[in-house]
Amino acid sequence: MDVLNDIKERLEFLKEMGVIELPISMAPQVKAESVASKDAPLSERVRECKKCALSSERINAVPGAGNAGRGIMFVSMMPAEEEDREGRLFSGKGGELLLLIITGALKMTRDDVYVTNVVKCRGKGGRFPSDAEIRECLPYLEEEINTVRPKVIITLGDGAINALLNRSQGVARLRGKFYSYKGIKLTPIYHPMELVEKPSLKRETHEDIKMIISELNP
Ligand code: SF4
Repeated sequence: MDVLNDIKERLEFLKEMGVIELPISMAPQVKAESVASKDAPLSERVRECKKCALSSERINAVPGAGNAGRGIMFVSMMPAEEEDREGRLFSGKGGELLLLIITGALKMTRDDVYVTNVVKCRGKGGRFPSDAEIRECLPYLEEEINTVRPKVIITLGDGAINALLNRSQGVARLRGKFYSYKGIKLTPIYHPMELVEKPSLKRETHEDIKMIISELNP
């Protein structure tokens, strides 16, 4: 019964975002795949990194994963609790919901996108990283961007967009348009967990996704 409720909840999540059909081939997969081998050197450096204080608070460093064959890189602020515990992306509820956006709204697969965080380690209790910690970790993200060369970077939630654009307004004020980050188009959407907590944000997210699709398919 829990499984049925879970499926119902996911379908309602997509329906409220304006997604009316979900091809079977794009049905959400709960389990993440392993980090792409081409990212192994960066992955190893991240997993062993002790450049900032977050290294003593994390359980696992979580490097980015995937590829941007379809031109998209998602950037969240930091690993979720489950991702910190398991050392890989897409481990928790937020990851599952992001997967629904990728498959249901963008009509892509998990392998079509690259997913990463501004900082690769989660602090105690999920504390927000300091400016110094963000600065220390940013070179990893920049290396990922240089390697993946996405057409569009999509940030998830207030923390990521504020950190990358050095702003403080958050998604509500900054959404709906493109900015430039290192010469690449960047736009924010709400974090998937925010959509669960505040379903009214799904309509705006649907509009944002449509804008991104138009950018990718002019
Ligand atoms: Fe290294 Fe980044 Fe983790 Fe700090 S947050 S220890 S810089 S990987």
